[in-house]
Amino acid sequence: MSDTIFHKIMQRQIPADIVYEDDDMIAFRDIAPQAPVHVLFVPKRDFATLNDVPADAADVIGKLAVAAASYAKREGFDRSGYRIVMNCNGDAGQTVFQIHLHLLAGAPLGHFGTPGR
Ligand code: AMP
Repeated sequence: MSDTIFHKIMQRQIPADIVYEDDDMIAFRDIAPQAPVHVLFVPKRDFATLNDVPADAADVIGKLAVAAASYAKREGFDRSGYRIVMNCNGDAGQTVFQIHLHLLAGAPLGHFGTPGR
């Protein structure tokens, strides 16, 4: 297993506000939230970036997205809306090299994708 901060959270070596866990993933609140709701969905299988996920592991990504949607339904913001994001490498601002899906919600999120913003 890799040794990122997210692996340490999975192994309960450092604390996190865990909102969901199953055999495939863990989900916890982002320590520096960018929206009123900001939860990270992290697979237990090791992949540093999206580039490292082979076609035969596509279900890993699908399960993260479905778990995020289930969380949105459970918390009641599925209809008001939410955004899921996965950053890959430097230009996207990836800082933790274990893939993870950001779930952002709880307010109008505005436009995104402008260089330098
Ligand atoms: P990324 O920039 O896509 O790699 O996202 C990494 C995210 O992990 C950032 O939004 C950080 O705020 C978040 N983060 C870093 N350390 C922790 C931690 N100990 N607990 C929860 N979230 C964290």
